[in-house]
Amino acid sequence: MKDYSKIAKEVDAIESKIWDVASNIWEFAEQGYHEVKSSAYASEALESEGFKITDRGIGTIDTSWIATWGSGSPVLGLMAEYDALPGLGNDTQPKKTPAKSGNTSGHGCGHNLICSTSVGAAIALKNHMEKENIKGTIKVVGTPAEELLNGKNYMAAAGAFKDMDVILHNHPTPKNSVWNFHSNAAMDMWIEFKGTAAHAGLQPWDGRSALHALEVFLTGVNAMREQMIPEARMHYQILSGGAAVNTIPDYTKVLIRYRGPNAENVRKHKEWIKDIAKGAALATQTESVFTNLGGIYDCLPNDVLAERVTDHLHKYFPLDFTEEEQAHAKGTQTEMGVAQDGMAADVSPVPYGVSIGASSDVGDVSWQKPTMGVIYSSWPLNVPAHTWGATACNGMSIGHKATVAAAKTMAATGLDLLTDPDFLQKTKDEFVKQLDGRTYKTLNDSDTNIQGKLDTKDQKLFECSIHGAMEHFGMPEHHHDH
Ligand SMILES: [Zn+2]
Ligand SMILES: [Zn+2]
Repeated sequence: MKDYSKIAKEVDAIESKIWDVASNIWEFAEQGYHEVKSSAYASEALESEGFKITDRGIGTIDTSWIATWGSGSPVLGLMAEYDALPGLGNDTQPKKTPAKSGNTSGHGCGHNLICSTSVGAAIALKNHMEKENIKGTIKVVGTPAEELLNGKNYMAAAGAFKDMDVILHNHPTPKNSVWNFHSNAAMDMWIEFKGTAAHAGLQPWDGRSALHALEVFLTGVNAMREQMIPEARMHYQILSGGAAVNTIPDYTKVLIRYRGPNAENVRKHKEWIKDIAKGAALATQTESVFTNLGGIYDCLPNDVLAERVTDHLHKYFPLDFTEEEQAHAKGTQTEMGVAQDGMAADVSPVPYGVSIGASSDVGDVSWQKPTMGVIYSSWPLNVPAHTWGATACNGMSIGHKATVAAAKTMAATGLDLLTDPDFLQKTKDEFVKQLDGRTYKTLNDSDTNIQGKLDTKDQKLFECSIHGAMEHFGMPEHHHDH
């Protein structure tokens, strides 16, 4: 049996750096497309270790990047997310408490740990490869705005993953497991209605209500629900419902997220939703404007990769927690009204043939290359993602232990992929089997992600953050081309 102790030691050797990345990004807690400090910090952490930033602004998303080290094949991709969620800012306490910084956004999905885990695994692998003279290339891919489901799909469509052989990612949860499931494909759409404003009391007959159009539209999509297959989902959020009660609104806007089991199903319902918007406009003598913000593919499983990740998970998980940490976990569970089971105490078996209703922009990547994610416990059992309880744990010692052990799992799997050509080939064969002759064609309508461009203020902050991070990591100015 192969000796993985050296690669684990390389992770231990950079433990403080891993936590530095995780805790700083936890503090920054920036929402998708605005991750200027987080993106800068993570890319500089890699640059300070000899990685080169070979690309930024991929797929027209300014806060994305690729950090490359090494040469030749195989090429191992490691994906790093870093976006936070609105309304989930919290202190590192087992109760709902505002973050000390006052930031109301928080890492309730643990993407700070996703970033530190991938960055840590990459640096450890690179150090090990140098010492052991192992050939190959590591590419860490900074992938923004996962929560908005429109990051990796634009990057994939732009060819970011084309030259990679295999791609690993990671995600914290309450459990130790592996991302071997089929997720829903999805599409986010904006529907805007343009009507005619009028005084609602004096001359309502002169107006044409954009709000009525929106109501007719939503009635239509809710009627469509009955004809949706059970795997499909539809969610909406009214972004603009009119400015005042005494004015006939001339503008409204709604965000629709449609999910279905595959791209074909999503395409079909996108057209239906578009027609419902046209019908609503016709019915109310208003105009409708349809925008496809971007669509993501379903995730393809890869049993070969999943089995190997699980083998390595057993080496480093379940984690040992102190009494204090278990008390934190149980305190959180009490506060949230869920069973006081503490932290995960096992590694789940590989899931086979499992489908979930949720979606991830990892989907597009998994249609391009063999892709698999490490899933690991960084918040208490029974506590859902996207909650204050998760935010708290991802910024404290529980999250610290989790990201270090996850980096070991990722690095060990990466090492196998770099050094065992038979295994790498098997993951590719499995990928071809999963594709089953189907081909990938982006669900996006445009090459441009209309939300991905930073405004002037954010751009300035991004540049300052890059310089600030360079200083933090002790990098000389001339080593940088910004
Ligand atoms: Zn999330
Ligand atoms: Zn997430």
